Amino acid sequence: MSDTWAPSSWKSKKAAQGVEYPDQGHLSKVLEKVKRLPPLVSPSEIERLRHQLSLVQNNKAFLLHAGDCAESFDACTHENITNKIGLILSFSLILIWGARLPIVRIGRIAGQYAKPRSSGTEKIGDRTVLSFRGDNVNGIDPNDRTPDPERLLSAYFHSSTTLNYVRSLLTSGFADLNHPREWSLSHVRSPTLRTEFERISEGLSDALDFSRAIGADPGSSSFETGGGKGVLGEVDFYTSHEGLMLDYEEALTRRLPLPPSLQDRATSQTSDGFYNTSAHFLWIGDRTRQIDGAHVEYFRGIRNPIGIKVGPTMESEELVRLLSVVNPDRIDGKVTLITRYGAGKIDKYLAGHIQAVRESGHPVIWVCDPMHGNTLTSATTGLKTRNFGTIISELTACLRIHAEAGSRLGGVSLEFTGELSDDGFSVTECLGGSMELSEEELGLRYQSFCDPRLNFEQSLDVAFLISNHFKK
Ligand code: PEP
Ligand code: MN
Repeated sequence: MSDTWAPSSWKSKKAAQGVEYPDQGHLSKVLEKVKRLPPLVSPSEIERLRHQLSLVQNNKAFLLHAGDCAESFDACTHENITNKIGLILSFSLILIWGARLPIVRIGRIAGQYAKPRSSGTEKIGDRTVLSFRGDNVNGIDPNDRTPDPERLLSAYFHSSTTLNYVRSLLTSGFADLNHPREWSLSHVRSPTLRTEFERISEGLSDALDFSRAIGADPGSSSFETGGGKGVLGEVDFYTSHEGLMLDYEEALTRRLPLPPSLQDRATSQTSDGFYNTSAHFLWIGDRTRQIDGAHVEYFRGIRNPIGIKVGPTMESEELVRLLSVVNPDRIDGKVTLITRYGAGKIDKYLAGHIQAVRESGHPVIWVCDPMHGNTLTSATTGLKTRNFGTIISELTACLRIHAEAGSRLGGVSLEFTGELSDDGFSVTECLGGSMELSEEELGLRYQSFCDPRLNFEQSLDVAFLISNHFKK
């Protein structure tokens, strides 16, 4: 790096979406504690993800980035985590079937607590209160909106508990592709979806049996570096969150030796690098991507693969400059551009961005986020929602524009949930889909306290759409 970078160098820049803590001394104490706690993920896992993302970049794999808009401490339960992982596995199985490619799975999980807001305050009844900024900052309860540093510590422990459970789930055979029924169908009520999914899982079982019968080992794949099992067990699974709270991210940034496979054997010196050990993958949100801002300064120094949200206000020239700042050495698999224009705007912006990046020669992975440009407030219920048809419209436009430009869509970034309501039904937050969820039904099981998520059935609808696109 040409000029000096340190985990704290972001402090000399302006941080958008900053949080004002009433007691700075309390914040410092909490951060000192977080600094002493062990890393949640390791350099070898992080480097392995970067390698797998380089395969996505070279059309050898497809990326699924998905999960909640925001996790909450209360939703950190056995059932919720199991359902989340089950949905991610079901979705990826459908993609594998259609695209005939390995899927890199990154969950918005085990740390996705902080939220950027368009306004610092909000009106609740006749009161104006500070906006809810995510469970690691303040509470959803309007009487609990003062930022509390203890919540950062709580975020660390909820992340580690979630990650521990995910690791144990995936190393205990839950994700075994031979038994997809374990995690897939328990609450899919649509007969068409059930039949389609069963057809795929039976086909896959046959294929696995066949490979075994002819002596091939279906468990080992050249996709994984060095062979062997995935990062978290039988399948690879990685964690991510928006790198918004820089104090916290700094506290978990550690200077650590590169994994042995990346050490230069010719010298006796050990190389090291700065890793954000709170998650494998972090992204910069659309509201914090200012080129001279604190977030970009922080992100340029870490070895983790990163995402950058790209919306309609991004200028092509700005995008290219941003890439030069965060990836000056043009490392493959390092940067994922997550586009989120909105169905009505994608035609205006995506082609120009693709062309500018191509001309710059920067290696990137293009991912479509068809959620964040398509949020609306339902007139009849006042609830924040998204229309399934609009989500599909941005996704299909994205596939088409990449194809027209001779580019390729490398993955999707979705807000979805396998969470069930207390009565055992899927949540009702987005309109439409094969279940034809109507505006009147939105209020029935609306559980998100941030953006609306696709439910289990609506998510599988999207999976089939992408899968069928690649099958053609
Ligand atoms: C998000 O991914 O939840 C989000 C806030 O996205 P964006 O920064 O693209 O608005
Ligand atoms: Mn969101």
